[in-house]
Amino acid sequence: MEEKRRIVKLIEGVKKELSRFNIPYVTEVSEKTRDPFRVLVSCLLSLRTKDEVTARASQRLFQMADTPEKLSSLPVKTIERLIYPVGFYRVKAKTIKAICRELVKRYNSRVPDTVEELVKLKGVGRKTATLVVSMGYGRPAICVDTHVHRITNRWGIVSTGSPHQTELSLYRVVPERYWIELNTLLVAFGQNVCKPISPHCSECGVRRYCPQIGVGKKR
Ligand code: SF4
Repeated sequence: MEEKRRIVKLIEGVKKELSRFNIPYVTEVSEKTRDPFRVLVSCLLSLRTKDEVTARASQRLFQMADTPEKLSSLPVKTIERLIYPVGFYRVKAKTIKAICRELVKRYNSRVPDTVEELVKLKGVGRKTATLVVSMGYGRPAICVDTHVHRITNRWGIVSTGSPHQTELSLYRVVPERYWIELNTLLVAFGQNVCKPISPHCSECGVRRYCPQIGVGKKR
């Protein structure tokens, strides 16, 4: 099968299965609010944290402060209390406050809309930046996290050693119409089917298009 067609079959196949899975919380925030600031803060909270915990912490935090001005004026201790028990809540409270200050001071309280500007904020990596651009602003960008990196390598549509390389390779092979949603699709798929260890290949809807590269033990 022609490679371009195979890639479309893989992505469309995952899309068909999506209704069976919970969608990632940050996607929900993006769909409900269309607010880049909320997407940025919930993404920072979600790192190394379960989705349910991120959801509750974000809601508590946004009830108290939903703009960079309001959030930057909260004491760090208050932010810690509101976001507990997300992973690394102390570090995240400090980071979020510092980012909000920067946004107020340097960006007129507006979240930047390019990856290049976003990564200048201390604590914002490429993954968060591409998520804000794609989910927050609805602009074509591919957010590559551990799920996107692992699955696209298993599919053999990239052959890369780091998420950044994966992102650059994916821009060349994935049709642009899928760039924004690719992260949502593969996070949900990666949490439920194509898991890091022992993926559920025998009941996977896209197995006929997948060469299972690097997969050892599987179910
Ligand atoms: S066949 Fe296995 S490795 Fe391939 S996408 Fe499905 S679960 Fe992942």
